[in-house]
Amino acid sequence: MNVRIGVSCGTSSSPRAELFHLDIRYSKSLLASGALPLILPIVHNHALVDRLLDQVDGLLLSGGVDISPHLYGEHLLKPSYQYDKKRDQFDLLLYRAARKRKMPVFGICRGFQLINVAEGGTLYQDIPTQVKTSIHHQSTSEQDMEHLIQVNRSSELFQILKKDEVMVNSIHHQAIKELARTLRASAVAPDGIIEAFEGKEGGWLMGVQFHPERLTEQEEFRELIEYFVDVARREK
Ligand code: MN
Repeated sequence: MNVRIGVSCGTSSSPRAELFHLDIRYSKSLLASGALPLILPIVHNHALVDRLLDQVDGLLLSGGVDISPHLYGEHLLKPSYQYDKKRDQFDLLLYRAARKRKMPVFGICRGFQLINVAEGGTLYQDIPTQVKTSIHHQSTSEQDMEHLIQVNRSSELFQILKKDEVMVNSIHHQAIKELARTLRASAVAPDGIIEAFEGKEGGWLMGVQFHPERLTEQEEFRELIEYFVDVARREK
């Protein structure tokens, strides 16, 4: 356990309490990969964000609620869509501070989308509404594989998965519309929706739209998380 991974979390609130929350599979999969997971509380102060990052060797931006479309210059498509302004602000601070120190960053689902927005890209607010030719991306069952992804042979992701085509789970109704120029797509779904990317420069950076932390019974997804942990260990 000589490598520590900071994991971002979400919030939920009831009339009685405001809570941080995080699916325990992020923590479980990191522990199984030999890393010590540290859940990072949401704070809004640059100095505190830096103190949090001082404690970890890598950053995992976790999944969760939609990102505010205001962050990529759009209005809400439907007023009923939920987002979390405080989490958005914290995740952006955290991401930028981690990148500044060239810390390895891995984004999953919302984390993947957040990286694209932070880098200047945009999102589809709702795939079924905005992408007429889309396949199904929102599984009702979390574990079930939903669709294939085609992995680019020249990508780092291909070196890890060692396959051109892999079945993945899919638990998202938003997706990347315009990919930021600083990112390179490494996998796409059959409808062209981007399912993974890598950073072109400035420290190790990878994002996936699917949820490998929920698929660790399969070797390739276990290896994906182990790979991130290994990079963080090597670069600390
Ligand atoms: Mn998908």
